[in-house]
Amino acid sequence: MDQGRTDVYGSLLCVAVQRSGNVTLASQLSRSDAQAVVFYASCRWLLWCLLGLVCAVVLTKPFAPTSDTSTVQRERVASDLERVRFDQDVAVQSGFVEFEVRPTDVSVHVQFSALDPRAYVLITGIQGPDDEWIYRNGGSADDDEEGPVTSAFTDSIYGQYGDAAVFMPMVPLQPLKPGRYRVLFDTQADARLRNSAALFKSSERPIDESLQLLDINLWVAHTDAAWLEELADQRLDGAYRQTLEGILQPHDLTVGELSLYRASNEQIAEFALIDEYDDAQIQSACRAMLSGVENERALNVVMVETLYADEGGSAGFSSVPGPLFDTSAANGCVFMGETAYITDAAEGLDQAMVDELHAVTMLHEGGHFMSLEHPSESDGRSFDYLSDTPECDIQSHDGRIDEWTGEQGEIDGEISDYECGTAGGADNVLFYSGVIEYAPFKLSRQQAWVLRRHPLFRPRTPADSH
Ligand SMILES: [Zn+2]
Repeated sequence: MDQGRTDVYGSLLCVAVQRSGNVTLASQLSRSDAQAVVFYASCRWLLWCLLGLVCAVVLTKPFAPTSDTSTVQRERVASDLERVRFDQDVAVQSGFVEFEVRPTDVSVHVQFSALDPRAYVLITGIQGPDDEWIYRNGGSADDDEEGPVTSAFTDSIYGQYGDAAVFMPMVPLQPLKPGRYRVLFDTQADARLRNSAALFKSSERPIDESLQLLDINLWVAHTDAAWLEELADQRLDGAYRQTLEGILQPHDLTVGELSLYRASNEQIAEFALIDEYDDAQIQSACRAMLSGVENERALNVVMVETLYADEGGSAGFSSVPGPLFDTSAANGCVFMGETAYITDAAEGLDQAMVDELHAVTMLHEGGHFMSLEHPSESDGRSFDYLSDTPECDIQSHDGRIDEWTGEQGEIDGEISDYECGTAGGADNVLFYSGVIEYAPFKLSRQQAWVLRRHPLFRPRTPADSH
């Protein structure tokens, strides 16, 4: 909230009320009737009291804790994006921010970043027009256990160390309604905020009829200089682009600029191997990347040699969803590890397959960053809230005959790619695992519906035509 602007607005309103009050009184007192004079005298007294009351309320209102942004101008960020920045201290004090969604808005993205990146930030509720609860999380940023989550549209916990974000609409069943919204949040030990903002995307044409492009910044920390050369010379604008376009284009989405950034030797030494559970290392790798990128409206991908963890490490990870337009954001990047997929003749993995899996990982993590969830989690018990992504439930899939090898799957309390098969969503980009046998990977219509509304997807510009 812009405190100064609110002050000015309040004073002007008070002056306007005083003026109209004087005019009324003067015309009324010109009457000669005695009774009328007594009546009007008491009336005048009453009016002055009322006036004082109104002025007191109007003048003191700006000083009460509020995150009301109705008087704050939206600032234009791009032809289809506008932003409102909230007053950080007022937001923390009140525990919420409020904003107005207009009929032309197709989405809103709200984020909170703590001044101290080690402080936990948690979104605890979203109230829509008519005070409808869209999302509630019963936890607090000081608890080890967050939740429980109550929502008809997601079961995600929107919380992280450093910053938290939320994106609406979450599913096509619930398009963004115009009106007033309130997003409630909590910071660990009431930590102060560095940044909190709402980003609104609008579209002059119906958004579902317009081509939308995703720009990607790829920052690479890798010790193998030859591998990096190949990536720069052919892979990025070759195999990676081809795979990404193959998944996006059926939905009238595509890839715009792919920009490559190479980490310095010092940064390579620091970040080529990343411990998935080391928040400080992850955050500093992301900040190292963000400090050097030129295009702010792009998916920021940190690609390192290896992401490791005690139990093996993964191909990639991301916030769900991540913070935007903030070069100091702790969680503003998605991560992927190159050695998660390497050519292996015994496994039948050639370079083209490895490239495809890397590109799919990039889009998988990018999908999370833009708020998409796994259609089915590995436990086969929790699913996304999109109605056109297959559900692979544990009861009917665990231990099933492997669709690919024809072998009996293992009853181990987890669903696998082969147990689920295509009918169970193993070929979906957001499937929790992902093996090359199910390529080419796909997005569902509803996943694409969500992505095209996200601020990272942008309309075409004249610069895209060449
Ligand atoms: Zn995932």
